[in-house]
This record gives sequence, C-alpha cells and structure tokens, in this order.
Amino acid sequence: MSWARQIHIKSPAELQIMREAGRINATVHATVKELLKPGVSTADLNAAAEEVLRKHGCVSPFKGYGHPPFPTSITVSINQELVHGIPSKSRKLKNGDIVSIDCGTVFNGFVADSAFTAGVGEISREAQKLLQVTENALNAGIQVMRVGNRTGDVSAAIQNYVESHGFYVTREYTGHGVGRQMHEGPQVPNYGKPGTGMLLKAGMTIAIEPMVLVGTAETRVLPDQWTVVSADGSLTAHFEHSVAVTEGEPLILTVP
Ligand code: MG
Ligand code: MG
Repeated sequence: MSWARQIHIKSPAELQIMREAGRINATVHATVKELLKPGVSTADLNAAAEEVLRKHGCVSPFKGYGHPPFPTSITVSINQELVHGIPSKSRKLKNGDIVSIDCGTVFNGFVADSAFTAGVGEISREAQKLLQVTENALNAGIQVMRVGNRTGDVSAAIQNYVESHGFYVTREYTGHGVGRQMHEGPQVPNYGKPGTGMLLKAGMTIAIEPMVLVGTAETRVLPDQWTVVSADGSLTAHFEHSVAVTEGEPLILTVP
C-alpha cells in the first residue's frame, strides 16, 4: 500500500459533515455493542450494523474494499485476531471472548472510521487490562493531536503508554488521514519518536488506532487474506477514533 497519499485540510463545513458521519458511526457501534452476547454470530453483528447504516442512507467504505474485496460492512476480530476479521454465520461469540468491531460510515461523501473492543460475558483480568490500556493509549494519542505537534508525537504517546504497561504495538498497521477517502495522508504509526513526522495543522482529520498485542508485535494474515492474528496466539485489542486537529482541543468526530 502506497502512503504517498495526499493530505486534505478540511473546511469547517466539511468538518461538520464528518462530525455527522462520525455520529452515525457511533450509533452503529452502540447497536453492535448491545449484541455482544454468547451465541450471537459475527454475521448477526454485521447485519445489525448494515441496518443502522441503511436507516441513515449510508454505506460502509469497507464493503468491496481491497483485494480480495472485503465482503461485509464491519470487521469483527475475536481474541488473537487483531483486525480485519470477516463476519460469518458459523462464527459465534462465546463467554470470555474479546471482540473488536471496526466500522466505517460514508455520509455526504465523507468517511468516518472508528473501532472498539469489548468483552462477551465475563472476561479475564488480563483481557480487562488489555482493553483499558488500548483505550487509554488511544486517548493519549488524541491528547497530543494539537497544532504545532507532529505525527511522531502522537505515535510516541501511543507506543510509550502501551509499552509501559508491558504490551506491544503492531508495526504493520497504522492510523491514517481520513476524509473523502477512508485512507488519506498522513500515515500515523503506533510507534515513533517525538518531534518527527508531519507537522499537524488545523483541519487535518486523522483516524488514530492503537492495535495492541499481549505477547508480541508480530502478526500474520490468515488464508482468507484478510484476518490479521497475533503470531503467538496472544490476545489483541483495537480502539480507533477519527479526530480533527483544531486551533484548540482535538475534536473527536466518531462519538454520539
Ligand atoms: Mg477502522
Ligand atoms: Mg482506520
């Protein structure tokens, strides 16, 4: 994948559209989260997400994306599956699973992209810690998305938070600019050095997405050519928000 992608600064009017796209994406998340119970299939989760999108006259940018074309509107990645799990009727949630849901919404030509991980029933202490660390890492990254900082400051904030809690960040999958395209510049890895990378400017919109693994940074892709799993089978988690850089506080677009 080439990352010589353009960076598009959004106008206030465009940011408003992206905020609305983000609101709808948050509604999809809330709907799917309610369904995270033992016995529910991952295809059921996708169907519920599509229903919400349809109600809003929206589609997901995931469907048909890439090679081979991604078949569904959300990705559902369970336990050792880090990202890009493909929903299916035969895959049922079990008590103790942790489930990552990634969804996008296209609204009036703009994309919102966000993800969360949550438990099914009772989850282990380690799983609870992993979820908390990954969500906190996302917030740590968002907090430094300020004019004058650089993408490396965001990357370093995420990496430092995760590694200080004994977990690992992926090297292969990154945050990214988001707007009319799901993937725009700049690329924002989950590791990096402060003071390096692209200068952040007001109107930049970036999907920040820590992908965290308990036992290793190494991943591999399953034969379905999409599902990314931890190389050692250890648990993984993924949280993501699309966020706008402003002259003031960072503006999280993908909240209700
Ligand atoms: Mg995403
Ligand atoms: Mg993303």
